Amino acid sequence: MSATSKFVEARPWQRPWWKPAKNNFLTFIYMVVVHVLAIVGIILQLLGLAGVINYSLPSMTVVILTLILTFLGGLGTTVCYHRALSHRSLKLNKFIEHILIFFTILNGNGSPITWVANHREHHAKADTEEDISSPRHGGFWWAHLRWVYQWPGSDIKKWAPDIDRKQYHAWEKALPFLILVSLSWGLVFGWQGFFWLGAIRLVHSLHFQMVVNSVLHLSPGSVMGEDSSRNIWWLGPFQFGAWGENWHHNHHNAANVAKFSRSWAQIDIGWYSIVLMEKLGLAKDVRRPRVEKT
Ligand SMILES: [Zn+2]
Ligand SMILES: [Zn+2]
Repeated sequence: MSATSKFVEARPWQRPWWKPAKNNFLTFIYMVVVHVLAIVGIILQLLGLAGVINYSLPSMTVVILTLILTFLGGLGTTVCYHRALSHRSLKLNKFIEHILIFFTILNGNGSPITWVANHREHHAKADTEEDISSPRHGGFWWAHLRWVYQWPGSDIKKWAPDIDRKQYHAWEKALPFLILVSLSWGLVFGWQGFFWLGAIRLVHSLHFQMVVNSVLHLSPGSVMGEDSSRNIWWLGPFQFGAWGENWHHNHHNAANVAKFSRSWAQIDIGWYSIVLMEKLGLAKDVRRPRVEKT
């Protein structure tokens, strides 16, 4: 039986939400820990604001570092993991590529190998019953979070043989350590730093990236096999940096193109960064939409 029909047969979205796939137990633990810590951080902050406990707002340093890490993590996901590695719609300078992988991992987005394999399989099977993250099967929460730890992961050899290389496996090995650092290093700025630079930032990044699989594929009334991807302008500002991932319908229509926006009014910081890097000689072989030159 092929891996694909096994997936449909197994219907992992029918398992209870708290049962992770065998090889994704650590991902599940991470999800639980990061959410619990983020909730504790927000409760402490609210109690502090209400004057119930002595707990001030985070310092300006913590706020700025949180925004920078969120921005670079989002940029790494869209430019490096998504547009460059998954779709090969541009080639990044190797140094820049690995710097972006570092910030993407710090942002909680996992290793480039599993990301690329899962993402390519999503595109190949989008809107069929074999789509690994379709809200049609298991509803919103399956598409939003559950598939990440309940789907055992796409076959690397089949979906990402070009990424199945030492330089990317090294990141996979370093991942647990980097995540622990990412979650806890803010403590050097006190408890506010611990929660804002750690769990609250990671939970925010997680949800506003996972909307790509859930909200941006929720087209009520569309039937199986019909394209469910959507463009939603108001999601842009929530993805600090408005990286351009919210133009998901444009992207599904031309997945091998590096530009996700199709008009000047569609903010696409990922694309502006690519154009800038191209001008600086840090990106090349950039694939543009057929109708335009810039
Ligand atoms: Zn999609
Ligand atoms: Zn894609």
